[in-house]
Amino acid sequence: MTAPPPSHLFYQTRRRRPMLDQARGVYMWDVDGKRYLDGSSGAMVCNIGHSNPRVLEAMRRQMEKSTFGYRLHFETEAAERLAEKTAALSPPGMEKVFFVSGGSEAVESAIKLARQYALATGEAQRWKVISRYPSYHGSTLGALAVTGYTPMTAPFDAMMRPMPKIPAPRAYLDGLDASDPETGRHYADKLEARILEEGPETVLAFIVEPVGGASTGALVPPAGYMARIREICDRYGVLLIHDEVMSGGGRTGRFFAAEHWNVAPDILAVSKGFAAGYAPLGAMVAHDRIVEAVLDDGGFIHGYTYAGNPLACAAGLAVIEEIETQGLMENATRIGALLKARLAGLMNRFPIIGDVRGEGLLLAFELVSDRAAMTPLPREVKAFDRLVEIAYGHGLIIYSRRTRGGHEGDHFLVCPPMIATDEHVDEIIEGLTLSLDQLMQ
Ligand code: PMP
Repeated sequence: MTAPPPSHLFYQTRRRRPMLDQARGVYMWDVDGKRYLDGSSGAMVCNIGHSNPRVLEAMRRQMEKSTFGYRLHFETEAAERLAEKTAALSPPGMEKVFFVSGGSEAVESAIKLARQYALATGEAQRWKVISRYPSYHGSTLGALAVTGYTPMTAPFDAMMRPMPKIPAPRAYLDGLDASDPETGRHYADKLEARILEEGPETVLAFIVEPVGGASTGALVPPAGYMARIREICDRYGVLLIHDEVMSGGGRTGRFFAAEHWNVAPDILAVSKGFAAGYAPLGAMVAHDRIVEAVLDDGGFIHGYTYAGNPLACAAGLAVIEEIETQGLMENATRIGALLKARLAGLMNRFPIIGDVRGEGLLLAFELVSDRAAMTPLPREVKAFDRLVEIAYGHGLIIYSRRTRGGHEGDHFLVCPPMIATDEHVDEIIEGLTLSLDQLMQ
């Protein structure tokens, strides 16, 4: 690998990555010509693959017209059309769309809208946003306050007001049957208990990822969980916020993952797959009654300069058109089922794989030292780092996280673009087999 030149750039660590040259479909090439299969769509972003001609053409057309119109000076057709389309894809009543540039901004906006709704409706004492542990909702201080991932939150605890957390429904760790509605009830009732403990009159909202992302590794809620959460929120006047930053945009086989359980939130956040990596874009979608109450009360005190950027909105609209015209959600369902079955098949060869989970093409596997007890691998193995590096060597990109709240456990998201074919599944499984063999040596 050509060593990357010294750089003024920095992110989390000093680690440097290969220099990207180009990307097409599910593949990416570095400047040495090495090819990688993008087995995690970046960070579950590039849902329709790279360099999609429809999106590039839509962006080119928009660029020739205008690339920026400040939202307080101009409306743009691109933002109008994408808002209309987004509302049409959202649950009934969720008619209002607020554009942002990414997932953290979408979550931040949802929390602030919820708070202003409480103020507008004479419930100023409601401010607590309950969330789950583990969870990840973003890196800005508001989104971080509801994030259940102590390695990322601890340094900032003194600067924010950490919010109450309930355990995520990880039935596979607790030895419970996720297909039994009693299991869903067991975990959902932890929300009710927490609302009562906090004082229902102080609880503003509950935020949840319908299908978990990086922090839980594609956690699918147990039977009955989502519906019961909705009931509990309604019972106590608590707003339900769905964080569909990763699960939204079609990857699970539905545009919003909560559609699998036919449950509608009051507010939702979407980003990543929304413009699928073609532009920084996200949205908060909210129920009409919430937005109308806040606007009637003097307006929504919140905003971002790049909100509704026409180039990003043109990209977002073309992404949705591509998903719909090419049947990519159907493909995500079919290829997702195939890939999940093939990943589960690897469990025969690799006892180190403790669990395979997910929905559509939002899939993950978890490594353990004892499958029956789901004992995590010792930290020193650093599997979450090493397997990713080894797979890189084999031209396969996967995405890893510490699974047990950030301190131990290793899970890996395997989430290729929704255009993936049977042959790509073969290639992923082959790359993973070689990589796991190498990890075990
Ligand atoms: N919520 C969820 C569920 C996410 O997965 C992420 C990103 N991993 C975010 C929020 C934050 O999004 P961003 O990194 O675009 O700010």
